[in-house]
Amino acid sequence: AAAGNSPAMKQVKLDKESELRIEVNVNSSLRLRLLSGTAEIFGTEMPPENWLIFPPRMKFAIFTWYGATIEMQDNTETDYVADETPMISYVNVHAVLEGRRKRAKASAGDADASQGPRVIVVGPTDSGKSTLSRMLLSWAAKQGWKPTFVDLDIGQGSITLPGCIAATPIEMPIDPVEGIPLEMPLVYFFGHNTPTVNADLYRVLVKELAQILERQFSVNAESRAAGMVINTMGFIDGLGYDLLLHAIDTFQATVVLVLGQDKLCSMLKDALKQKQNVDVVKLQKSGGVVSRNSKFRAIARNQRIREYFYGLSNDLSPHSSIANFSDLAIYRIGGGPQAPASALPIGAQPVADPMRLVPVNINRDLLNLVLAVSFAKEQDQILSSNIAGFIWITDIDIPRKKITYLAPSAGELPSKFLLMGSLTWIET
Ligand code: ADP
Repeated sequence: AAAGNSPAMKQVKLDKESELRIEVNVNSSLRLRLLSGTAEIFGTEMPPENWLIFPPRMKFAIFTWYGATIEMQDNTETDYVADETPMISYVNVHAVLEGRRKRAKASAGDADASQGPRVIVVGPTDSGKSTLSRMLLSWAAKQGWKPTFVDLDIGQGSITLPGCIAATPIEMPIDPVEGIPLEMPLVYFFGHNTPTVNADLYRVLVKELAQILERQFSVNAESRAAGMVINTMGFIDGLGYDLLLHAIDTFQATVVLVLGQDKLCSMLKDALKQKQNVDVVKLQKSGGVVSRNSKFRAIARNQRIREYFYGLSNDLSPHSSIANFSDLAIYRIGGGPQAPASALPIGAQPVADPMRLVPVNINRDLLNLVLAVSFAKEQDQILSSNIAGFIWITDIDIPRKKITYLAPSAGELPSKFLLMGSLTWIET
Protein backbone atom coordinates (compact mmCIF):
# COMPACT_ATOMS: atom_id res chain seq x y z
CA ALA A 1 0.00 0.00 0.00
CA ALA A 2 1.06 3.57 -0.61
CA ALA A 3 2.08 5.89 2.18
CA GLY A 4 -0.65 8.03 3.70
CA ASN A 5 -4.24 6.90 3.84
CA SER A 6 -5.08 6.28 0.20
CA PRO A 7 -3.95 2.84 -0.92
CA ALA A 8 -2.30 2.41 -4.29
CA MET A 9 -4.45 1.48 -7.25
CA LYS A 10 -3.95 -1.39 -9.63
CA GLN A 11 -5.51 -2.74 -12.79
CA VAL A 12 -6.46 -6.37 -13.27
CA LYS A 13 -7.10 -7.79 -16.71
CA LEU A 14 -9.55 -10.67 -16.89
CA ASP A 15 -9.68 -13.08 -19.82
CA LYS A 16 -13.01 -14.42 -20.98
CA GLU A 17 -14.76 -16.85 -18.61
CA SER A 18 -12.49 -16.05 -15.71
CA GLU A 19 -13.15 -14.40 -12.38
CA LEU A 20 -11.42 -12.14 -9.89
CA ARG A 21 -11.99 -13.45 -6.37
CA ILE A 22 -11.77 -10.90 -3.61
CA GLU A 23 -11.83 -10.89 0.17
CA VAL A 24 -12.10 -7.32 1.40
CA ASN A 25 -9.82 -6.30 4.25
CA VAL A 26 -11.18 -6.71 7.79
CA ASN A 27 -10.65 -3.04 8.63
CA SER A 28 -11.13 -1.07 5.45
CA SER A 29 -13.56 -0.97 2.58
CA LEU A 30 -12.59 -1.51 -1.05
CA ARG A 31 -13.17 0.78 -4.02
CA LEU A 32 -13.18 -0.68 -7.48
CA ARG A 33 -14.67 -0.18 -10.90
CA LEU A 34 -15.09 -1.74 -14.30
CA LEU A 35 -12.71 0.05 -16.61
CA SER A 36 -13.49 -1.79 -19.85
CA GLY A 37 -15.32 -4.84 -21.12
CA THR A 38 -18.29 -6.39 -19.31
CA ALA A 39 -18.40 -8.24 -16.00
CA GLU A 40 -20.91 -9.34 -13.40
CA ILE A 41 -20.94 -9.86 -9.66
CA PHE A 42 -22.99 -12.93 -8.72
CA GLY A 43 -25.27 -12.50 -11.73
CA THR A 44 -25.64 -8.71 -11.65
CA GLU A 45 -23.91 -6.71 -14.35
CA MET A 46 -21.36 -4.13 -13.18
CA PRO A 47 -22.03 -0.57 -14.32
CA PRO A 48 -19.22 0.72 -16.54
CA GLU A 49 -16.75 3.08 -14.85
CA ASN A 50 -18.79 3.85 -11.71
CA TRP A 51 -16.87 3.30 -8.51
CA LEU A 52 -18.33 0.66 -6.22
CA ILE A 53 -17.47 0.51 -2.54
CA PHE A 54 -17.45 -2.86 -0.82
CA PRO A 55 -17.60 -3.05 2.99
CA PRO A 56 -14.94 -4.74 5.13
CA ARG A 57 -14.94 -8.58 5.14
CA MET A 58 -17.09 -8.95 2.05
CA LYS A 59 -16.15 -11.92 -0.12
CA PHE A 60 -17.16 -11.94 -3.75
CA ALA A 61 -16.11 -12.58 -7.33
CA ILE A 62 -16.17 -10.51 -10.50
CA PHE A 63 -16.85 -12.81 -13.41
CA THR A 64 -16.55 -11.96 -17.08
CA TRP A 65 -17.99 -13.85 -20.04
CA TYR A 66 -16.06 -11.91 -22.68
CA GLY A 67 -13.14 -10.22 -20.91
CA ALA A 68 -12.80 -7.09 -18.75
CA THR A 69 -10.37 -4.81 -17.00
CA ILE A 70 -10.94 -3.86 -13.37
CA GLU A 71 -9.36 -0.93 -11.57
CA MET A 72 -9.13 -1.38 -7.82
CA GLN A 73 -7.49 -0.30 -4.62
CA ASP A 74 -4.57 -2.51 -3.76
CA ASN A 75 -5.58 -3.14 -0.15
CA THR A 76 -7.59 -6.37 -0.09
CA GLU A 77 -7.15 -9.28 2.28
CA THR A 78 -6.71 -11.43 -0.82
CA ASP A 79 -7.45 -11.16 -4.50
CA TYR A 80 -6.60 -13.55 -7.29
CA VAL A 81 -7.81 -14.53 -10.72
CA ALA A 82 -9.25 -17.99 -11.40
CA ASP A 83 -9.97 -19.34 -14.85
CA GLU A 84 -11.69 -22.51 -13.68
CA THR A 85 -15.23 -21.84 -12.55
CA PRO A 86 -18.54 -23.73 -12.69
CA MET A 87 -20.27 -20.68 -14.21
CA ILE A 88 -21.06 -22.37 -17.54
CA SER A 89 -22.94 -25.15 -15.78
CA TYR A 90 -24.78 -22.57 -13.64
CA VAL A 91 -25.84 -20.51 -16.63
CA ASN A 92 -26.98 -23.70 -18.37
CA VAL A 93 -29.29 -24.32 -15.42
CA HIS A 94 -30.56 -20.77 -15.86
CA ALA A 95 -31.27 -21.46 -19.54
CA VAL A 96 -33.33 -24.54 -18.67
CA LEU A 97 -35.28 -22.57 -16.05
CA GLU A 98 -35.82 -19.78 -18.58
CA GLY A 99 -37.39 -22.26 -20.99
CA ARG A 100 -39.70 -23.53 -18.26
CA ARG A 101 -40.75 -20.01 -17.31
CA LYS A 102 -41.64 -19.25 -20.92
CA ARG A 103 -43.68 -22.43 -21.17
CA ALA A 104 -45.44 -21.58 -17.90
CA LYS A 105 -46.25 -18.10 -19.14
CA ALA A 106 -47.67 -19.47 -22.37
CA SER A 107 -49.91 -21.83 -20.39
CA ALA A 108 -51.71 -19.16 -18.34
CA GLY A 109 -55.04 -20.48 -17.16
CA ASP A 110 -53.90 -24.08 -16.85
CA ALA A 111 -53.45 -24.60 -13.10
CA ASP A 112 -50.50 -26.98 -13.36
CA ALA A 113 -48.72 -25.95 -16.53
CA SER A 114 -48.77 -22.24 -15.62
CA GLN A 115 -46.51 -22.88 -12.62
CA GLY A 116 -42.92 -21.88 -13.34
CA PRO A 117 -39.92 -23.74 -11.94
CA ARG A 118 -39.62 -24.12 -8.18
CA VAL A 119 -35.93 -24.47 -7.59
CA ILE A 120 -34.45 -25.45 -4.25
CA VAL A 121 -30.69 -25.15 -3.66
CA VAL A 122 -29.19 -27.60 -1.16
CA GLY A 123 -25.73 -28.52 0.07
CA PRO A 124 -23.43 -28.30 3.08
CA THR A 125 -22.49 -24.97 4.65
CA ASP A 126 -20.13 -22.95 2.51
CA SER A 127 -20.94 -24.73 -0.72
CA GLY A 128 -22.15 -21.54 -2.40
CA LYS A 129 -25.92 -22.01 -1.99
CA SER A 130 -26.75 -18.38 -1.27
CA THR A 131 -24.49 -17.30 -4.10
CA LEU A 132 -26.04 -19.65 -6.67
CA SER A 133 -29.55 -18.64 -5.53
CA ARG A 134 -28.58 -15.04 -6.05
CA MET A 135 -27.18 -15.62 -9.53
CA LEU A 136 -30.26 -17.52 -10.68
CA LEU A 137 -32.50 -14.76 -9.34
CA SER A 138 -30.49 -11.93 -10.87
CA TRP A 139 -30.23 -13.61 -14.26
CA ALA A 140 -33.99 -14.18 -14.25
CA ALA A 141 -34.71 -10.60 -13.16
CA LYS A 142 -32.44 -9.29 -15.91
CA GLN A 143 -34.72 -11.02 -18.40
CA GLY A 144 -37.76 -9.33 -16.94
CA TRP A 145 -39.07 -12.09 -14.64
CA LYS A 146 -40.01 -11.46 -11.02
CA PRO A 147 -39.05 -14.71 -9.34
CA THR A 148 -39.71 -15.19 -5.64
CA PHE A 149 -36.71 -15.70 -3.40
CA VAL A 150 -37.40 -17.90 -0.40
CA ASP A 151 -34.72 -18.07 2.27
CA LEU A 152 -35.06 -20.93 4.73
CA ASP A 153 -31.54 -20.49 6.09
CA ILE A 154 -32.06 -19.26 9.65
CA GLY A 155 -28.28 -19.16 10.18
CA GLN A 156 -27.51 -16.31 7.77
CA GLY A 157 -30.57 -14.30 6.84
CA SER A 158 -29.97 -12.96 3.33
CA ILE A 159 -33.42 -11.35 3.20
CA THR A 160 -33.78 -10.22 6.79
CA LEU A 161 -32.27 -11.07 10.16
CA PRO A 162 -30.87 -14.45 11.12
CA GLY A 163 -33.40 -16.59 13.00
CA CYS A 164 -36.09 -15.94 10.39
CA ILE A 165 -37.42 -17.57 7.27
CA ALA A 166 -38.58 -15.15 4.61
CA ALA A 167 -39.67 -14.59 1.04
CA THR A 168 -39.58 -11.64 -1.31
CA PRO A 169 -40.09 -11.05 -5.03
CA ILE A 170 -36.90 -10.13 -6.87
CA GLU A 171 -37.76 -7.48 -9.42
CA MET A 172 -34.28 -6.31 -10.37
CA PRO A 173 -30.84 -7.92 -10.45
CA ILE A 174 -29.60 -7.94 -6.85
CA ASP A 175 -27.28 -5.06 -5.97
CA PRO A 176 -23.75 -6.46 -5.46
CA VAL A 177 -23.11 -4.23 -2.46
CA GLU A 178 -26.51 -3.62 -0.89
CA GLY A 179 -27.88 -7.12 -1.39
CA ILE A 180 -31.59 -7.79 -1.35
CA PRO A 181 -33.79 -4.72 -0.83
CA LEU A 182 -35.52 -4.87 2.54
CA GLU A 183 -38.77 -3.44 1.20
CA MET A 184 -41.68 -5.64 2.18
CA PRO A 185 -40.48 -9.17 2.69
CA LEU A 186 -42.80 -11.81 4.10
CA VAL A 187 -41.03 -12.87 7.29
CA TYR A 188 -41.66 -15.52 9.94
CA PHE A 189 -39.75 -15.46 13.18
CA PHE A 190 -38.16 -18.67 14.42
CA GLY A 191 -35.90 -16.87 16.85
CA HIS A 192 -32.81 -19.08 16.84
CA ASN A 193 -30.04 -19.77 14.37
CA THR A 194 -30.31 -23.54 14.57
CA PRO A 195 -33.49 -25.58 14.00
CA THR A 196 -32.61 -28.14 16.69
CA VAL A 197 -34.01 -25.75 19.31
CA ASN A 198 -37.54 -26.41 18.04
CA ALA A 199 -37.77 -28.37 14.79
CA ASP A 200 -41.56 -28.62 14.98
CA LEU A 201 -41.89 -24.87 15.04
CA TYR A 202 -39.50 -24.62 12.09
CA ARG A 203 -41.70 -27.02 10.10
CA VAL A 204 -44.87 -25.11 11.01
CA LEU A 205 -43.36 -21.80 9.88
CA VAL A 206 -42.10 -23.30 6.61
CA LYS A 207 -45.61 -24.57 5.96
CA GLU A 208 -47.18 -21.24 6.83
CA LEU A 209 -44.84 -19.40 4.45
CA ALA A 210 -45.48 -21.92 1.65
CA GLN A 211 -49.24 -21.56 2.05
CA ILE A 212 -49.15 -17.79 1.84
CA LEU A 213 -46.99 -17.93 -1.29
CA GLU A 214 -49.29 -20.52 -2.82
CA ARG A 215 -52.20 -18.13 -2.28
CA GLN A 216 -50.27 -15.27 -3.87
CA PHE A 217 -49.30 -17.40 -6.87
CA SER A 218 -52.92 -18.39 -7.42
CA VAL A 219 -53.87 -14.76 -8.11
CA ASN A 220 -50.64 -13.55 -9.74
CA ALA A 221 -49.87 -15.26 -13.03
CA GLU A 222 -46.67 -13.27 -13.50
CA SER A 223 -45.01 -14.38 -10.29
CA ARG A 224 -46.44 -17.87 -10.71
CA ALA A 225 -44.71 -18.27 -14.08
CA ALA A 226 -41.44 -16.83 -12.76
CA GLY A 227 -41.39 -19.49 -10.02
CA MET A 228 -39.15 -19.47 -6.99
CA VAL A 229 -35.61 -20.02 -5.88
CA ILE A 230 -35.36 -21.47 -2.38
CA ASN A 231 -32.15 -21.26 -0.37
CA THR A 232 -31.73 -23.77 2.46
CA MET A 233 -29.64 -24.40 5.55
CA GLY A 234 -26.23 -26.03 5.36
CA PHE A 235 -27.39 -28.52 7.98
CA ILE A 236 -27.85 -31.68 5.89
CA ASP A 237 -27.43 -34.63 8.29
CA GLY A 238 -30.09 -36.26 10.43
CA LEU A 239 -32.69 -33.68 11.34
CA GLY A 240 -31.19 -31.32 8.73
CA TYR A 241 -31.85 -33.89 5.99
CA ASP A 242 -35.42 -34.45 7.24
CA LEU A 243 -36.04 -30.72 7.11
CA LEU A 244 -34.70 -30.59 3.55
CA LEU A 245 -37.15 -33.27 2.47
CA HIS A 246 -39.88 -31.42 4.33
CA ALA A 247 -39.06 -28.19 2.47
CA ILE A 248 -38.91 -29.93 -0.94
CA ASP A 249 -42.30 -31.45 -0.23
CA THR A 250 -43.94 -28.39 1.30
CA PHE A 251 -42.92 -26.02 -1.49
CA GLN A 252 -43.48 -28.70 -4.15
CA ALA A 253 -40.04 -28.07 -5.56
CA THR A 254 -39.57 -29.20 -9.15
CA VAL A 255 -35.80 -28.75 -9.40
CA VAL A 256 -33.37 -29.70 -6.63
CA LEU A 257 -29.87 -28.33 -7.18
CA VAL A 258 -27.31 -30.14 -5.05
CA LEU A 259 -24.01 -28.34 -4.56
CA GLY A 260 -20.81 -30.22 -3.99
CA GLN A 261 -21.98 -33.36 -2.21
CA ASP A 262 -22.33 -36.67 -4.01
CA LYS A 263 -23.78 -38.47 -1.01
CA LEU A 264 -26.54 -35.93 -0.45
CA CYS A 265 -27.32 -35.97 -4.16
CA SER A 266 -27.71 -39.73 -4.32
CA MET A 267 -29.77 -39.80 -1.11
CA LEU A 268 -32.15 -37.19 -2.52
CA LYS A 269 -32.36 -38.94 -5.90
CA ASP A 270 -33.34 -42.08 -4.08
CA ALA A 271 -35.82 -40.38 -1.77
CA LEU A 272 -37.48 -38.49 -4.63
CA LYS A 273 -37.49 -41.15 -7.34
CA GLN A 274 -41.24 -41.71 -6.92
CA LYS A 275 -41.91 -38.10 -7.84
CA GLN A 276 -41.91 -37.86 -11.62
CA ASN A 277 -41.78 -34.10 -11.88
CA VAL A 278 -38.79 -33.47 -9.63
CA ASP A 279 -35.32 -33.21 -11.16
CA VAL A 280 -32.35 -33.68 -8.86
CA VAL A 281 -29.28 -32.08 -10.42
CA LYS A 282 -25.74 -32.21 -9.10
CA LEU A 283 -23.66 -29.09 -9.56
CA GLN A 284 -20.03 -28.45 -8.90
CA LYS A 285 -19.12 -26.21 -6.00
CA SER A 286 -17.08 -23.18 -7.01
CA GLY A 287 -13.46 -23.19 -5.88
CA GLY A 288 -14.01 -19.57 -4.91
CA VAL A 289 -16.48 -20.20 -2.12
CA VAL A 290 -14.85 -19.14 1.09
CA SER A 291 -15.22 -21.24 4.23
CA ARG A 292 -16.29 -19.20 7.16
CA ASN A 293 -15.65 -20.42 10.69
CA SER A 294 -18.18 -20.10 13.47
CA LYS A 295 -16.56 -16.91 14.71
CA PHE A 296 -16.88 -15.32 11.28
CA ARG A 297 -20.49 -16.43 11.11
CA ALA A 298 -21.23 -14.91 14.51
CA ILE A 299 -19.66 -11.62 13.39
CA ALA A 300 -21.65 -11.74 10.14
CA ARG A 301 -24.90 -12.30 12.07
CA ASN A 302 -24.07 -9.38 14.32
CA GLN A 303 -23.34 -7.17 11.32
CA ARG A 304 -26.63 -8.16 9.77
CA ILE A 305 -28.49 -6.90 12.86
CA ARG A 306 -26.50 -3.68 12.90
CA GLU A 307 -27.31 -3.22 9.23
CA TYR A 308 -31.02 -3.67 9.94
CA PHE A 309 -31.06 -0.75 12.36
CA TYR A 310 -28.31 1.51 11.02
CA GLY A 311 -28.01 0.63 7.33
CA LEU A 312 -25.01 -0.74 5.48
CA SER A 313 -23.19 2.58 5.57
CA ASN A 314 -24.84 4.16 8.62
CA ASP A 315 -27.42 5.74 6.34
CA LEU A 316 -30.45 4.90 8.51
CA SER A 317 -31.41 6.61 11.74
CA PRO A 318 -33.16 4.25 14.12
CA HIS A 319 -35.37 5.67 16.81
CA SER A 320 -35.26 5.06 20.54
CA SER A 321 -38.64 4.79 22.29
CA ILE A 322 -39.89 4.15 25.79
CA ALA A 323 -42.91 1.98 26.57
CA ASN A 324 -44.67 0.86 29.73
CA PHE A 325 -44.41 -2.81 30.59
CA SER A 326 -48.18 -2.96 30.32
CA ASP A 327 -48.14 -1.66 26.73
CA LEU A 328 -46.28 -4.72 25.45
CA ALA A 329 -46.99 -8.45 25.48
CA ILE A 330 -43.87 -10.55 24.96
CA TYR A 331 -44.06 -14.26 24.16
CA ARG A 332 -41.76 -17.07 23.28
CA ILE A 333 -42.89 -20.15 21.45
CA GLY A 334 -42.38 -23.67 22.75
CA GLY A 335 -40.51 -25.09 25.69
CA GLY A 336 -41.71 -25.70 29.17
CA PRO A 337 -43.80 -28.69 30.12
CA GLN A 338 -47.40 -28.78 28.96
CA ALA A 339 -48.70 -29.83 32.33
CA PRO A 340 -47.10 -30.09 35.76
CA ALA A 341 -45.57 -33.52 36.40
CA SER A 342 -48.01 -34.01 39.26
CA ALA A 343 -50.92 -33.88 36.83
CA LEU A 344 -49.50 -36.65 34.61
CA PRO A 345 -50.02 -40.40 34.98
CA ILE A 346 -47.36 -42.10 37.10
CA GLY A 347 -44.19 -42.71 35.10
CA ALA A 348 -45.05 -40.32 32.28
CA GLN A 349 -42.52 -37.60 31.48
CA PRO A 350 -43.81 -34.09 31.04
CA VAL A 351 -43.45 -33.25 27.35
CA ALA A 352 -42.54 -29.84 26.08
CA ASP A 353 -45.19 -28.54 23.71
CA PRO A 354 -43.24 -27.07 20.79
CA MET A 355 -46.09 -24.81 19.77
CA ARG A 356 -47.03 -23.43 23.16
CA LEU A 357 -47.18 -19.66 23.43
CA VAL A 358 -45.39 -18.79 26.66
CA PRO A 359 -45.82 -15.29 28.13
CA VAL A 360 -42.48 -13.74 29.12
CA ASN A 361 -42.08 -11.69 32.28
CA ILE A 362 -40.27 -8.47 31.64
CA ASN A 363 -37.04 -8.33 33.63
CA ARG A 364 -33.40 -7.37 33.15
CA ASP A 365 -32.73 -10.63 31.28
CA LEU A 366 -34.36 -9.08 28.23
CA LEU A 367 -31.57 -6.54 27.89
CA ASN A 368 -29.90 -6.66 24.44
CA LEU A 369 -32.46 -9.06 23.04
CA VAL A 370 -33.77 -8.52 19.53
CA LEU A 371 -37.54 -9.09 19.50
CA ALA A 372 -39.81 -9.55 16.51
CA VAL A 373 -42.91 -7.40 16.21
CA SER A 374 -45.84 -9.57 15.18
CA PHE A 375 -48.57 -8.53 12.75
CA ALA A 376 -51.05 -10.39 14.99
CA LYS A 377 -54.02 -8.39 16.20
CA GLU A 378 -55.11 -11.04 18.70
CA GLN A 379 -53.06 -13.37 20.81
CA ASP A 380 -54.36 -16.48 19.07
CA GLN A 381 -53.06 -15.21 15.73
CA ILE A 382 -49.44 -14.98 16.87
CA LEU A 383 -48.38 -18.46 15.80
CA SER A 384 -49.60 -18.05 12.25
CA SER A 385 -48.69 -14.38 11.80
CA ASN A 386 -45.73 -13.02 9.94
CA ILE A 387 -43.75 -10.19 11.42
CA ALA A 388 -43.46 -6.50 10.70
CA GLY A 389 -39.90 -5.98 11.89
CA PHE A 390 -37.66 -5.97 14.94
CA ILE A 391 -36.85 -3.95 18.02
CA TRP A 392 -33.77 -4.08 20.19
CA ILE A 393 -34.10 -3.76 23.97
CA THR A 394 -31.63 -1.19 25.29
CA ASP A 395 -32.88 -0.56 28.81
CA ILE A 396 -35.24 -1.99 31.38
CA ASP A 397 -36.27 0.17 34.31
CA ILE A 398 -37.85 -2.16 36.84
CA PRO A 399 -38.96 0.44 39.44
CA ARG A 400 -40.66 2.63 36.83
CA LYS A 401 -41.82 -0.35 34.76
CA LYS A 402 -40.44 1.17 31.56
CA ILE A 403 -38.72 -0.48 28.66
CA THR A 404 -36.47 1.40 26.21
CA TYR A 405 -36.01 0.00 22.73
CA LEU A 406 -34.53 0.87 19.39
CA ALA A 407 -36.73 0.55 16.30
CA PRO A 408 -35.97 1.35 12.65
CA SER A 409 -38.32 4.34 12.79
CA ALA A 410 -40.32 6.47 15.19
CA GLY A 411 -44.02 5.93 15.77
CA GLU A 412 -46.16 3.29 17.33
CA LEU A 413 -45.40 -0.40 16.90
CA PRO A 414 -47.86 -2.14 14.55
CA SER A 415 -48.83 -4.53 17.34
CA LYS A 416 -48.21 -4.96 21.06
CA PHE A 417 -47.36 -8.63 20.49
CA LEU A 418 -43.65 -9.26 20.51
CA LEU A 419 -41.80 -12.53 19.99
CA MET A 420 -38.64 -13.50 21.78
CA GLY A 421 -36.06 -16.09 20.78
CA SER A 422 -32.34 -16.25 21.46
CA LEU A 423 -31.42 -13.46 19.07
CA THR A 424 -29.32 -10.83 20.84
CA TRP A 425 -27.20 -7.95 19.71
CA ILE A 426 -24.45 -5.97 21.37
CA GLU A 427 -23.55 -2.71 19.75
CA THR A 428 -19.88 -2.66 18.79
P1 ADP B 1 -23.54 -21.12 1.55
O1 ADP B 1 -24.80 -20.36 1.27
O2 ADP B 1 -23.53 -22.47 0.91
O3 ADP B 1 -23.18 -21.18 3.00
P2 ADP B 1 -22.32 -18.84 0.27
O4 ADP B 1 -22.97 -18.78 -1.07
O5 ADP B 1 -22.85 -17.90 1.32
O6 ADP B 1 -22.34 -20.33 0.84
O7 ADP B 1 -20.77 -18.62 0.04
C1 ADP B 1 -19.85 -18.52 1.11
C2 ADP B 1 -18.98 -17.28 0.95
O8 ADP B 1 -18.16 -17.40 -0.20
C3 ADP B 1 -19.79 -16.00 0.77
O9 ADP B 1 -19.16 -14.97 1.51
C4 ADP B 1 -19.70 -15.73 -0.73
O10 ADP B 1 -19.84 -14.36 -1.02
C5 ADP B 1 -18.33 -16.27 -1.05
N1 ADP B 1 -18.20 -16.74 -2.44
C6 ADP B 1 -19.05 -17.56 -3.11
N2 ADP B 1 -18.60 -17.80 -4.35
C7 ADP B 1 -17.45 -17.11 -4.49
C8 ADP B 1 -16.48 -16.95 -5.55
N3 ADP B 1 -16.62 -17.56 -6.72
N4 ADP B 1 -15.42 -16.16 -5.30
C9 ADP B 1 -15.24 -15.55 -4.11
N5 ADP B 1 -16.09 -15.66 -3.09
C10 ADP B 1 -17.18 -16.43 -3.26
